[in-house]
Amino acid sequence: MSSLQSQSLKPESKPKLLIVDDQTINIQVLYHAFATEFQVFMATSGAKALSICEKDAIDLVLLDVMMPEMDGYEVCTRLKANPVTSDIPVIFVTAHRDEVSEEHGLEVGAVDFISKPINLKIVRARVRAHIALKCQSDLLRNFAFMDGLTGVRNRRYFDEQLGIEVARAQRSKLPLSLILIDVDFFKRFNDCYGHQGGDDCLRRLGRLFQTSIKRPADFVARYGGEEFVCVLPETPFPKALEFAESIRMAVLACQIPHTDSTVSEWLTLSLGVGTMAPDSPLASYQLLQLVDDNLYQAKKLGRNQVVGSVN
Ligand code: GH3
Ligand code: MG
Ligand code: MG
Repeated sequence: MSSLQSQSLKPESKPKLLIVDDQTINIQVLYHAFATEFQVFMATSGAKALSICEKDAIDLVLLDVMMPEMDGYEVCTRLKANPVTSDIPVIFVTAHRDEVSEEHGLEVGAVDFISKPINLKIVRARVRAHIALKCQSDLLRNFAFMDGLTGVRNRRYFDEQLGIEVARAQRSKLPLSLILIDVDFFKRFNDCYGHQGGDDCLRRLGRLFQTSIKRPADFVARYGGEEFVCVLPETPFPKALEFAESIRMAVLACQIPHTDSTVSEWLTLSLGVGTMAPDSPLASYQLLQLVDDNLYQAKKLGRNQVVGSVN
């Protein structure tokens, strides 16, 4: 925990705390208590709080119970029902510390309660403890979702995240693009350069794909064997095609020898691109099927190329 509190950390690497209260004076008190230690976000309504949590990867919410329009219980219920925000711990800040309200708060998913009027020492200790737990569980999650060979995200992460991204794209009516990448003649590559040579090559490709990704919402995962997948939210079809083509060219430019390939003297990739257009009725498995079909076409048309389509 001490490293989390270190002043030398860059502001963006500090844990993110969201304070929600309809009274700005209450927010101010808490803001001053935490401003040096955490990145503090503030919201004066439940609706604003929900939108910040969805966008900003918040690590903990201090949530007032009594608010007009949407009360704290409702905010917490909605946070827990949304897979994007369900892991964010919520502490209720309340003047009503009776057993019934506390029970109700725990039922809707809060981790703790803090009484008003606020005792800053108690609030600080509780917030620190819960943020430390959250950071530890994030760390474990990161390990659980990492591919051991290449260091990129693994298949489990991809499977979990794809459903979330498809639902988000449908809600926001923005396009979602997927790229499936398959190394050409990789079995022959292994036969030629040994399994160790094949593993080194996959590691290098993983690094290259990872550094090619520029936006925080994009990610690359190892889909299996010598196949990788890129998920590009809010990316229209032409941009996804352009990105896939730039990856194909970047790998070619590495000039990794592949003497047993019939399409080039260097290692090459085949890529399938698929974009879910706004208002598309596709389910995640159908988007994946579309991308897989396009990859199959790229192989059939002679490998070392990109094939894509929108649906
Ligand atoms: P294509 O151009 O049609 O994709 O042919 P391919 O040989 O790349 O495809 P195929 O699916 O026949 O073979 C994939 C090979 O990838 C077979 C397997 O030995 C190799 N492979 C899968 N995972 C690993 C791995 O973790 N390390 C190494 N070195 N090789 C792997
Ligand atoms: Mg394959
Ligand atoms: Mg292959």
